[in-house]
Amino acid sequence: SPLPHLSAAAPLDLLADFPAIPAGWSYLDTAATSQKPQAVIDAITRGYGETYATVHRGVYQRSADMTLAYEAARTRVARFIGGRPEEIVFVRGATEGINLVAECWAATRLQAGDRILLSQLEHHSNIVPWQMAAERVGAAIDVVPLTPDHRIDLDAMARILTDRHKLVALAHVSNVLGSVLDAKRATELAHGVGATILIDGCQAVPRLPVDVADIGCDFYVFSGHKLYGPTGIGVLWGRAELLERMPPYQGGGSMIDRVSFERTTYAPPPTRFEAGTPHIVGALGLHAAINYVDAIGLDRIHAHETALVRETRAALAGLNSVRLFGPEDAAGIVSFAVEGVHPHDVGTILDEARVAIRAGHHCAQPLMETLDVPATARASFGVYNGPADVAALVAGIERVTRIFG
Ligand code: PMP
Repeated sequence: SPLPHLSAAAPLDLLADFPAIPAGWSYLDTAATSQKPQAVIDAITRGYGETYATVHRGVYQRSADMTLAYEAARTRVARFIGGRPEEIVFVRGATEGINLVAECWAATRLQAGDRILLSQLEHHSNIVPWQMAAERVGAAIDVVPLTPDHRIDLDAMARILTDRHKLVALAHVSNVLGSVLDAKRATELAHGVGATILIDGCQAVPRLPVDVADIGCDFYVFSGHKLYGPTGIGVLWGRAELLERMPPYQGGGSMIDRVSFERTTYAPPPTRFEAGTPHIVGALGLHAAINYVDAIGLDRIHAHETALVRETRAALAGLNSVRLFGPEDAAGIVSFAVEGVHPHDVGTILDEARVAIRAGHHCAQPLMETLDVPATARASFGVYNGPADVAALVAGIERVTRIFG
């Protein structure tokens, strides 16, 4: 059901739900991590302050209740992205989810001479685990280039793919450029040569409706903290038949069927991949976060953020010292450079004007090389932003150009 204080027709006005955003502060770093609505903070407070106990072990009622709540979070995640509960593995974040696949899927499926296909715009967490996996077995990595407007070039991907490609891993939305991948077409291309495909949905789930069944992909990962939820909890969704054939990630409590010194057998997925006491309250916080964004509606969030991006790009394009990166229809993210000014200086001057942006390589150094810059300035939007934030950003950048002009 929609949030009670949100009318269907009015523009999003949710700032009051976010206690850590003081009046007059423009938080434009949601692509790094989102601020938390009171509903999520309350769920975490209740989890530790009222209902706390361990899961999956207790013979007492409190633990049984907490187990139900933890598993309800898994079911909610499954419904949110169109998967099944037994296909949802709770991990620490997208980074751990990708490492898990790069280790456990690759352990039995990747061989010497095989090839992995990534793109030029990937986050380091969707590059380095694959390099490590490739090095272990003697596989090689190929890179899909970008189109002139900075999207993953799927026509080039179609030309590069061969039947030696066993795995493709691509970002659904670029954390630097906001470019949205046609994940369905990318999946069809990968499957066309028999490759498995992982989609890094870190920047997509907070700003687009995502349905893994519709995309048809094999693995999908995201982090809770970019989706208005807590840090330390994330999701790996994997097709049941793939997860079933994967060996465990870490050994320990909870992930076993039977243990003896002679031989240990493992639990079925997803338990097999969740060794140790999980981030119980993190899962409850993620559940609350998903309820929050679903009550707004991802179509609406997408429209809201795309409008803010358009407005920002139009205003910045009017300043002749600003260079914009990424496509016009980017999702929630705008990267730019101010001629002759280091992005860190742009960030510092904006901070003085109470505008928080990110400046740096955004964990995407190969992309910086392609853009031929050492770093960019990046503004990224969330449900709490509005036209006042765009105005503050643009005024701040005008000040930057005056100071350095
Ligand atoms: N992929 C993308 C596209 C990201 O934006 C990020 C976070 N910046 C990650 C992966 C890694 O996420 P985390 O640090 O939460 O594991």
